[in-house]
Amino acid sequence: MTKRIALLGSTGSIGQSTLQVVRHLGQEAMQIVALAAHSNIDLLEQQALEFKPELIAVYDQPQAHALQKRLPGQNILAGMEGVKAVAALKSANFVVSAMVGTLGLLPTVAALQAGKDVGLANKESLVAGGALVMALVKEKGSRLLPIDSEHSALFQCLNGENTKAVSRLILTASGGPFRNHSLEQLEAVTVDQALKHPTWNMGPKVTLDSSTLMNKGLEVIEAHWLFGIPIDQIEVVIHPQSIIHSMVEYVDGSILAQMGVPSMIVPIQYALTYPERKNGLMSPFDFAKHGTLQFYQPDVEKFRCLRLAYDAIKTGGSLPCYMNAANEVIIQRFIQRELSWLDIGRRLEDLMMRHQTVPLHSLDDVLQIDQLARHDANSFKL
Ligand code: MG
Repeated sequence: MTKRIALLGSTGSIGQSTLQVVRHLGQEAMQIVALAAHSNIDLLEQQALEFKPELIAVYDQPQAHALQKRLPGQNILAGMEGVKAVAALKSANFVVSAMVGTLGLLPTVAALQAGKDVGLANKESLVAGGALVMALVKEKGSRLLPIDSEHSALFQCLNGENTKAVSRLILTASGGPFRNHSLEQLEAVTVDQALKHPTWNMGPKVTLDSSTLMNKGLEVIEAHWLFGIPIDQIEVVIHPQSIIHSMVEYVDGSILAQMGVPSMIVPIQYALTYPERKNGLMSPFDFAKHGTLQFYQPDVEKFRCLRLAYDAIKTGGSLPCYMNAANEVIIQRFIQRELSWLDIGRRLEDLMMRHQTVPLHSLDDVLQIDQLARHDANSFKL
């Protein structure tokens, strides 16, 4: 059956790679029926002309109107309602959810409510509303397929196995650009340095989160929800080469690892073709070129965001959602040079300590906590 794909976040890094995979797999197998993007209408216009989608949504209202002027015959919607309409489009049978940050939550929920299978690159959806999103997946009988490289690796290593036989999920982390920095050096980190990742080429939010290891913390929470594995059985190991994308250790002592050169093409294609495998775009792996694979314990004193993420999911309730939204704002304040790189973790910890954790019963509860965290993180004094 042809996959009829609604792609959310088409102009971002994952979105562009998804289109590369769709081009490679061809019209018979994959069609783009709808595109949604935040605001980059120059690229979105090119994508529209190439893939001729039935519907387009632009989150940014003025940009939506500007694109409508350029493409008068095209059906274009604006704002979150537009993005949700793309996610729930009748003719789509698969949604790739790749918008950045908490913005991705509502469209992901809209896709699941409409009974779509979802390829999930937006980890924030599960961090903010994991229990609610997973309940919805169960209720609708939809598939939620991971596109994050670590989770695709875990998913592949868990394929056909009984999760009761899992002793540990082991997520690998590159360690980011400051893996070997002393506290003194971390004190002096600049925005430009934090925006350069040693092994992965990604958007600014994920790149900054990788530098603080918050990205790995969010991924631990994501893995907990996706695979239903208790948090104390999920560990992180620093693996600077990023060749092993993650591992599963079983009770008999066997460890399965998924590996390859760092590229989002493989996890995206696996989510799109699952449960089948199709010819890919990667060259054969050259073992001699990758002769050294190293592993280290993460330093949660220097990289306190990783510890904070564990604290958040162990406490549960509203705290992961609160942490996630507060982190997004603090990252922005770092980019605007209002605070230092080390302040990201310090400020986040202060805010989390002061937050009164409450249970989350509904999507409205999630959105309220998200707003509260944004308000708190925007209003603390420097
Ligand atoms: Mg990842």
